[in-house]
Amino acid sequence: MTLFRIHFDQGEPIDIEAATPAAAQAAVQKQRPAGCIKKIKRVKGEGAMPAPAEEQPHPCPICAEPFKPDDLCASDVEMGICHAACLEGSPVVDLDTGEPVDGPATTYTYRSVEGQANG
Ligand SMILES: [Zn+2]
Repeated sequence: MTLFRIHFDQGEPIDIEAATPAAAQAAVQKQRPAGCIKKIKRVKGEGAMPAPAEEQPHPCPICAEPFKPDDLCASDVEMGICHAACLEGSPVVDLDTGEPVDGPATTYTYRSVEGQANG
């Protein structure tokens, strides 16, 4: 089995295990209409390729470790995307208003922002 990541015009990509890209597409069509599938990427398994150099993730501004797709990230008002763990202990502010807020910062996986930086 190979793990494919199906990207859509809108919403989160879906990871799905299938023997072929066509099978992955068929499986995911149960969840989403076919028309909105943007691309199908082989993530791991047979034939999986490492990311090309230009797609290397940028490093965390705090620990300088490159982000991995599964890393839990949070946004810092000044530094942008950082590891959620690296920001632990920092004051949490609302990114829209700049006002301090109670509770944990909004976190997300790096995967969810991957590819948006280049516009
Ligand atoms: Zn970090």
